[in-house]
Amino acid sequence: MSKRVLMVFLILLVLTFSGCSKEKTSEVISETIYALGTVIDIQIYDENVDKAKKAIQESIERITEIENKMSVNKDISEVILINENAGENPVQVSEDTFYVLKKAKEYSKLSNGAFDLTIEPIVKLWGIGTEDARVPEKEEITSLLNLVNYEDLKLDESTNKVQLNKKGQAIDLGGIAKGYAGDEIKRILLENDINTAFINLGGNVVTLGTKVDGSSWRIGIQNPLGDRGNYIAVLEVVDKTVVTSGNYERYFIEDGKRYHHIINPKTGYPAEEGIISSTIVTDKSIDADALSTSVYVLGLEKGMELIESLDNVDAVIITEDKNVYITEGLKETFNIVDDSFILAN
Ligand code: FAD
Ligand code: MG
Repeated sequence: MSKRVLMVFLILLVLTFSGCSKEKTSEVISETIYALGTVIDIQIYDENVDKAKKAIQESIERITEIENKMSVNKDISEVILINENAGENPVQVSEDTFYVLKKAKEYSKLSNGAFDLTIEPIVKLWGIGTEDARVPEKEEITSLLNLVNYEDLKLDESTNKVQLNKKGQAIDLGGIAKGYAGDEIKRILLENDINTAFINLGGNVVTLGTKVDGSSWRIGIQNPLGDRGNYIAVLEVVDKTVVTSGNYERYFIEDGKRYHHIINPKTGYPAEEGIISSTIVTDKSIDADALSTSVYVLGLEKGMELIESLDNVDAVIITEDKNVYITEGLKETFNIVDDSFILAN
C-alpha cells in the first residue's frame, strides 16, 4: 500500500470544540484501522469499555469480510470472480455481495448511467490512485467504453447468481461499498447496545444518535481547494450519514491538468461538469455513497434534480466557481465558515 494511498482520508472533519457534558461519564473508545484502501476511524462514547471494544472488534471483522468479498485489489474476491467469468459463466455470490450489486445497479439506472458499476475497465486504464496512473490515448478509452453498461449485469435473485454479458466487462464497487461497510458498522454497534458513535471511513461519515451532551454532531465540509482539514462549512446532524465525493484526494496532475478518480461513463474521462465536491446527507450510507458519486458526474442541475426527487436526502454541492448549493432540508443547520465560498441558493 503506497503512502500516497494511505493519505486518502479525512475529507470530512468532526469539530471537537463543542465538548462533552460534565454529568455524563461516557468515555471515548476508539480504533483506527487501514482497510478498503483508506483510513477507518470508529469512535464510541459509552460507559462500558468492554462492550465498546467488543463492538469495535466485530466491526473490524465485518469490514475485513466485506473487503474480502468486494475488493478488486486483492488476489481473489467474489467481485474478481464475476469479472474473470464475464461473458462465460454465472457466479454465485453471498447475500452481501448480491445486495450491494443490486443497489449499485439500481443507482446506475436511477442516475441514468452517471453512476455505472461496470466502470472498472476505464478505472483500471487510468490507474488513478496507483503508481501506474497515466492519461490514456483516446483510442484506448474508446475501445473500452463499449464495455461499460450496467444493463449487462444479470442478477438472479432466486439463486444469487450473477453474470456480466461480455468478456472484458468488469465491476468496481469503489463508489458504493464503503457506504455499505458504514451501514454494517452502524448495525453492529446498535446490536451491541451502543447508541453514541462517530465513524469515518475515509470521508464517509456515519453518526449514531447525538453527541453525549445531546447536541448535534458537527461535521466540517472540506475545502476542495484547500489543505486537508481546512473546511468551508459546518453541517449539524443527528443519526445521519454524510458522504462526500471530491476531486481533491485521488488524482494526478499532468501538463497542469488535474485528472481525478470519478469517471464520466459517457466519455471515459474524469467527470468535469463543474462540481468539485458533492456531499450527501441521509440515513443509509450505501445510498449516500452511490448518490455522492452520481451527483458529481451529473453536474449541478441534473444532480440537484435527482436529489430533490428523493425523500429524506439532502446535498451540499460545491462548484468550481466556489458557489455552494444546498437542499431545503439543510437550510436551518448549515453554516459557511469560509467567506470566499458563497451560498448560492
Ligand atoms: P467515490 O466518489 O465514492 O467513488 C469513486 C470511486 O468509484 C472511484 O475510485 C472508482 O473506483 C469508482 N468510480 C469512478 N467513477 C465511477 C462512476 N461513474 N460510477 C461508479 N463508480 C465509479 N483503494 C486502494 O488504493 N487500495 C485498495 O486495496 C482498495 N481496496 C478497496 C476495497 C473495497 C471493497 C472498496 C470499496 C474500495 C477499495 N479501495 C482501495 C478504493 C478506495 O477506498 C477508494 O478511494 C474509494 O472506494 C473511493 O471512494 P471515494 O469516497 O473517494 O469516492
Ligand atoms: Mg461514492
